[in-house]
Amino acid sequence: MSKHSCEDAVAHVYSYLDGELGRIKTTRIRRHLRKCPPCMGAFSFEDRLKMIVRERVREEPRPEVIDRLRSFLAENEPGFEK
Ligand SMILES: [Zn+2]
Repeated sequence: MSKHSCEDAVAHVYSYLDGELGRIKTTRIRRHLRKCPPCMGAFSFEDRLKMIVRERVREEPRPEVIDRLRSFLAENEPGFEK
């Protein structure tokens, strides 16, 4: 596997995972990944990372939780501005 196609694959990892690459580039990178375990490893790592981030975003505190936290801070932190 040539170094160039590794660089090409890695350079496009985020666009690839976001589905922003065109069909031709996506196919080329997918083909490269099948033949290149190190790149495949890097891509699946990024994929897992994105999944974790997505889960974290889903766990974002709801507004009422933030309000409760804010009033708790207002009562317990003398310098806290509402
Ligand atoms: Zn590679």
